[in-house]
Amino acid sequence: MAKIIAVANQKGGVGKTTTAVNLSACLAVKNRKVLLIDIDPQGNATSGLGIDKNTVKSSIYDVIINEIDIEDTLLPTKIKNLMVSPSNINLAGAEVELVSVISREMRLKMALENIEDKFDFILIDCPPSLGLLTVNSLTAANTILVPIQCEYYALEGLSQLMNTVKIVQKHLNRNLRVEGVVLTMFDARTNLSIQVVDEVKKYFGNKVYRTIIPRNVRLSEAPSYGLPIILYDEKSRGAECYMELAEEVIESSEQY
Ligand code: ADP
Ligand code: MG
Repeated sequence: MAKIIAVANQKGGVGKTTTAVNLSACLAVKNRKVLLIDIDPQGNATSGLGIDKNTVKSSIYDVIINEIDIEDTLLPTKIKNLMVSPSNINLAGAEVELVSVISREMRLKMALENIEDKFDFILIDCPPSLGLLTVNSLTAANTILVPIQCEYYALEGLSQLMNTVKIVQKHLNRNLRVEGVVLTMFDARTNLSIQVVDEVKKYFGNKVYRTIIPRNVRLSEAPSYGLPIILYDEKSRGAECYMELAEEVIESSEQY
């Protein structure tokens, strides 16, 4: 059975997609069978893996709204062992369309039941909101992985996120746990980054990964080439750090 990890934080620009894409790719390089689900209407994980979201025929939208088999959406990537279930612009309407649908919070969970045993890890790149697409992701997931940017107001909104986790635990997914918190875009030259690390560690304790992702220009360039960092620049700090993060995720999953 796959471990299903929702990469979520309702703030935009904190490194969700960068983490979802690169952690998925690094897990796959480490010989795990990985599926990345892009459930953000912006489709950045899809395009970041070199897939043209405008030509995607069936997407996660069709899975959630039209109940097509998720297997029919899966596309290979340039990384062996890494498949993607892409997003496209139709998803922008899903949030509204879902409201009137039966089992609207459970659609993704139901869709994953048939393919769970084909993968070791399923990662879900969530949109920057706490709407029904994120709730579907948290309902389908075993764990939530929260990227936090080392910036002003880093902790803002996190109590709201954790509250959503509690509500999902109570009503939809009793077993949802926090996988971990990953600090992103760390800049060792600034006191601010160092302060944020301290604050986040106070709030989340041992849930914070040892690996801290630095601000690394190679990480921001890679998506425009449609490549995960490990193919774009294997020797970069960004690539090294996402490989280390993958190792931590594997370690904790084996203990589990
Ligand atoms: P989200 O999915 O949370 O909105 P993204 O992963 O898209 O966030 O990141 C927001 C922007 O920051 C993107 O342009 C991305 O390339 C850039 N970025 C993310 N992580 C890093 C990093 N560690 N170093 C440099 N740029 C980064
Ligand atoms: Mg994103």
